Amino acid sequence: MQNKSEILIDLIVQNNANITESRNSSHKPLDLLILLILNQSTSDVLADKAFEQLKKDYPNYEDLLQENNAFKLKKSIQVCGLSESKARYILNALNYLKQKNWLEENLSFIDNLSDEKALKELTSIKGVGIKSASCLLMFSFGRNTFPIDTHLFRIFQRIGDILPAKTTPKAAHKILQPYLKSDLAFIVHVSLIDLGRNICLGAPKKPLCQKCYLQTICESALV
Ligand code: SF4
Repeated sequence: MQNKSEILIDLIVQNNANITESRNSSHKPLDLLILLILNQSTSDVLADKAFEQLKKDYPNYEDLLQENNAFKLKKSIQVCGLSESKARYILNALNYLKQKNWLEENLSFIDNLSDEKALKELTSIKGVGIKSASCLLMFSFGRNTFPIDTHLFRIFQRIGDILPAKTTPKAAHKILQPYLKSDLAFIVHVSLIDLGRNICLGAPKKPLCQKCYLQTICESALV
């Protein structure tokens, strides 16, 4: 007999069969890593703006490292908020990769690592959490790693019986990853992002449960 997580994933896949494998290839892996750091606790639009300004000010990451000026970098990316800590994280990540001789190779070292080892390596970089690492592996390397952002976490909590009480997003990744068999992580992630943005809206808005294909299994359905 299927448990609720398996039923949920089946429902998502059945209702989103039209999603094709068009993963984000517009950014090189290293650029995506920097963009993911900028994207923490802010919108995609502001993160994109900050990234654009950073690339304008520093077309080459080596220049950024040579200058090693967190204050100046902070100014460059300030539009996305938390710019002081993000500037430190970016410099820390670039320094880490440089020390390992991985900077020039655009993170190609990941090709030789299993998903588990790649996640471990990436999350050992301060400022790179499990969500960012999973996103990078999924979108840039085609891996079956499952990023859980605020939309997904909210949906899982509302559905109920998916995650134990007080589960953190980091723990949620470990709990749910084993259910994402046969390369399902991409379709489930993208489908739930879409659901979270358009139907299962976060407070103060109310979820539009009448339009939701998950209402039959959701403990919080407003119907
Ligand atoms: S039924 Fe409502 S609360 Fe439940 S997942 Fe769908 S939109 Fe969210």
